[in-house]
Amino acid sequence: MMRASFSRVLVAAAAVAAAAPCAAAAQQTPAAPARPAQPGPLAAAYRQRADNLIDRALADSAAFRRLTVLVDRFGSRFSGTQNLESAIDWVLAEMRKDGLDNVRGEPVMVPRWVRGQESAEMVAPRRQNLPMLGLGGSIATPPAGITAEVLVVGSFDELTRRAAEARGRIVVYDAPFTTYGETVRYRTNGAFEAARVGAVASLIRSVTPFSMRTPHTGSMRYDSAVARIPHAAITVEDAMMLHRLQEQGVRPRVTLRMSAQTLPDAPSRNVVAEIRGRERPDEVVVLGGHIDSWDVGQGAMDDAGGVVAAWEAVRLMKELGLRPRRTVRVVGWTNEENGLRGGNGYRDAHRAQVTDHVLAIESDGGVFKPLGFGFAGTDSAFAMARQVGTLLDRIGAGNITRGGGGADIGPIMALGVPGMGLNVDESRYFWYHHTEADNISMINPRELAECVATLAVMAYVIADMPERLPFGAGPATAN
Ligand SMILES: [Zn+2]
Repeated sequence: MMRASFSRVLVAAAAVAAAAPCAAAAQQTPAAPARPAQPGPLAAAYRQRADNLIDRALADSAAFRRLTVLVDRFGSRFSGTQNLESAIDWVLAEMRKDGLDNVRGEPVMVPRWVRGQESAEMVAPRRQNLPMLGLGGSIATPPAGITAEVLVVGSFDELTRRAAEARGRIVVYDAPFTTYGETVRYRTNGAFEAARVGAVASLIRSVTPFSMRTPHTGSMRYDSAVARIPHAAITVEDAMMLHRLQEQGVRPRVTLRMSAQTLPDAPSRNVVAEIRGRERPDEVVVLGGHIDSWDVGQGAMDDAGGVVAAWEAVRLMKELGLRPRRTVRVVGWTNEENGLRGGNGYRDAHRAQVTDHVLAIESDGGVFKPLGFGFAGTDSAFAMARQVGTLLDRIGAGNITRGGGGADIGPIMALGVPGMGLNVDESRYFWYHHTEADNISMINPRELAECVATLAVMAYVIADMPERLPFGAGPATAN
């Protein structure tokens, strides 16, 4: 009864454009404004410079080439790995070559979870390998693995109804994808909910609307009041198969082997570079993404693309000789995926200057075709942002909607800094999210260049315009 056809899940994919892009940061759905914004005097004053930024961004594939080097040379960039620190070293060196100001790594300690060897196999009623990925933070199984009959449920409600059947079994959550924010609960909370009713391990159907038998990893958590059990993701196809077998009256058995370890915290850095403002250098527009990724794939879409788009946006300002009135600061936050230490560390390191943060912009929904921004701030700030958005209408990226932000800028937004998340066509984002398939081959150079243009125009105009964007969280972040 909980099974969904692929046609249905593909429809769900189209509806998920507004869902939270990464990690556990569930965002609200942006609501379309009543009327399109019309260009006013502010837009007129910046039209030429905005056009120059857009034309320059779209003139070549510089951003894509830079992204290619980052992901091919350093690969996945998981917290606590040499890959991540080597990638950070390279980005900092390139930023210095670009001639950006105050290029630095700001130290942050990050958690270190190591996946190790892992596997899942159905051993009855027949043997079949189940492609899987342990979920970040999970404990290991004993070395011989855990072999148990599975109990497949379609929801937490069903688990509650069937709690008496769960003891000693591996609970499999076959919850079809609706929105990321809703479905990700099985990944985040599935282990302790299963352990509470006596399960020995738990598996989730990967959190995705589309699958080519690809498992998706991601973060999870334990509840200190409940036993810790191993928690992993299997594919959509295999979760559905186990569910069908159970409905046929078969009782499948699975062997799960995981050797994951949590090691002591390791040093990492937030990547920071600036163009210092020419009149009010202490006032700052921050833009960026997260430099870390999961330990699978290349993390090209999530979120090397976001970091490179923001970095290229700032480099283009430099190249065009556009030094704004206020400082623009590009940040590649570390450890977004399994700890958010970078975003929290940035807030702590800059707490004394938080009211000098004019705006924080994050790109962490993939670098697909940009549509505009989701905005969180006061009504007057929103009106100004919509004005700037009209400068992006020519590339279809001027739609500024209420409600937005990002996981890494969330900590400073909570202190009143207006925030924006780059909105893109996310219809394919969750197909690749946290998988081996998050690879540069699925990124379109033109769409990436449009993301660069979109970030550059918004950040530059807000940093340069005579009147400061009003501070304050505003109504949309009241939840
Ligand atoms: Zn991300």
